[in-house]
Amino acid sequence: MIYDLIVTGGGPAGTSAAITAARSGARVLLLERGQFPRHKVCGEFVSAESLDLLATLLDSSQSPLLHGAVRIPQARFYLDGRLLTTAINPPAASIARLNLDAALWHSAERTGVESRQRVTVQDIAGTGPFRVMTMAGEFETRALINASGRWSNLNAPTADNGSSGERWLGLKAHFAEAAPEASVDLYFFEGGYCGVQPVNLNEQKGKMGRVNASAMVRADVASSLSEVLLCHPQLRDRSRKWKPLSNPVSTSPLMFRDPQPERNGVLMAGDAVAFVDPFIGDGISLALRSGSLAGQCLVSFFRGKISLSEAVRAYSETYQQQLASVFRASSRIRQMLGLPRSVRRPVLSVLEKVPAVTDYLVRKTR
Ligand SMILES: Cc1cc2nc3c(=O)[nH]c(=O)nc-3n(C[C@H](O)[C@H](O)[C@H](O)COP(=O)(O)OP(=O)(O)OC[C@H]3O[C@@H](n4cnc5c(N)ncnc54)[C@H](O)[C@@H]3O)c2cc1C
Repeated sequence: MIYDLIVTGGGPAGTSAAITAARSGARVLLLERGQFPRHKVCGEFVSAESLDLLATLLDSSQSPLLHGAVRIPQARFYLDGRLLTTAINPPAASIARLNLDAALWHSAERTGVESRQRVTVQDIAGTGPFRVMTMAGEFETRALINASGRWSNLNAPTADNGSSGERWLGLKAHFAEAAPEASVDLYFFEGGYCGVQPVNLNEQKGKMGRVNASAMVRADVASSLSEVLLCHPQLRDRSRKWKPLSNPVSTSPLMFRDPQPERNGVLMAGDAVAFVDPFIGDGISLALRSGSLAGQCLVSFFRGKISLSEAVRAYSETYQQQLASVFRASSRIRQMLGLPRSVRRPVLSVLEKVPAVTDYLVRKTR
C-alpha cells in the first residue's frame, strides 16, 4: 500500500499539513516520535494572523480551546531599565502547548489521517516516491512533508547553514501568580530574555492565575529557569511569589539559519524550514501556515494534474513570497538587540517617548 503523503512530526506544522491534505481526499500517514499531551518549551503566544486558520483546522469538538484562550492585547518590553508598552491589535491568544498540540492531533485523527505516536522516522530514501524507515516498519509514499521541528535526526543543519558559535537554550515552566495582567511581558538581559504571559488550563478556572515563563538564554549565562528568573531585577521581584505548577522543560541547541522550504523533493514545514526568533511570537503561526500551504500545494499532484517537482517548486516560491519576510524582520531586531548598550540607549529613549514608533516597529514584524 502506497500513501499519497507521509508527514513526519505531529506538531502544529505536521498536523496542519496532514489535515489540509486529508481534507482534499488524500491518504495521509502522520508519524510522531513523542506522545501527546506534553509540555513543550514555548511562550505559548499565538499571533492573531493564524487564529482563523487554527479555527478551521480544529475539529468542532476542540473549539473550546480557542474560545477559552486568554487574549493578549498588550506587550511590555523591559529593557535596559526602560519599559516600552505597545498594543497588540488584533489581540493574540495564549494557548498552552499541552492543549494545542493534543487538540490538533485529535483533529487530524477526526479528519481521517492515519496517525501514529511513538514512531520515530529513522531514515528516508528516494526523491519521490519515498521509502520511510521507522522502528515500526517501512512505509511507501508518493509525497513527503518533513515537519520534524527545529532539531531532529532528519533535520540536522548542514555545515554551510547553521552557526556553530554560541550555544543557546530554551526553558519553560508554568507558575501560579495572583491575578496576572493580560499582557505578554518580555524581560531582556545580557545573554537572553524571558517572556511571561497568563495562560489557561481548563482545571484552573476560578483558582489562582497561571503564567507561562519561557526563556531563550545563552548557555554560559544560565542553565535553568530558576537562574533565568534572577537575571532581571523586575522579573526577580515578580517571580518571588510564584509557585511552580509544572516541571520545567528545556531544549537545545537553538540556532538560526536561512529558510530552506525544500530538500531533495521533500517539502519542509514549520521549524524544519528554519527557526524564527521566539520574541517575534510567530513560530506557531508560521508552522500552521507553512503546513497548510504545503498540504495545499500537493493537492494538484495528488489529482494527477502536476508532477511532484512542480508542486515542490510552487511551495518553495509561495513560501518565499508569503512567509520568508518574518525571518528578515526577526534578524533585524536581533541585530538591534545585539548593539552595544551605548548605541541601544538613545534608540530606546526615542521609543519610550514616542510609543507610536514602537507600535510601528511591532507592526513591521507581522
Ligand atoms: C524558548 C522558546 C519560546 C517560544 N515561544 C513561542 C511563542 O510564544 N509563540 C510562537 O508562536 N512560537 C514560539 N516558539 C517557537 C515554536 O515553539 C515553534 O516555532 C513551533 O513549535 C514549531 O512547530 P513545528 O510543528 O514546526 O515543530 P514542533 O512543534 O517542534 O514539532 C515537531 C514534532 O516532530 C517530532 N519529531 C521530530 N523528529 C521526528 C522523527 N524523526 N520522527 C517522528 N517525529 C519526529 C517531534 O517530537 C515534535 O513533536 C518558541 C520557541 C522557543 C524555543
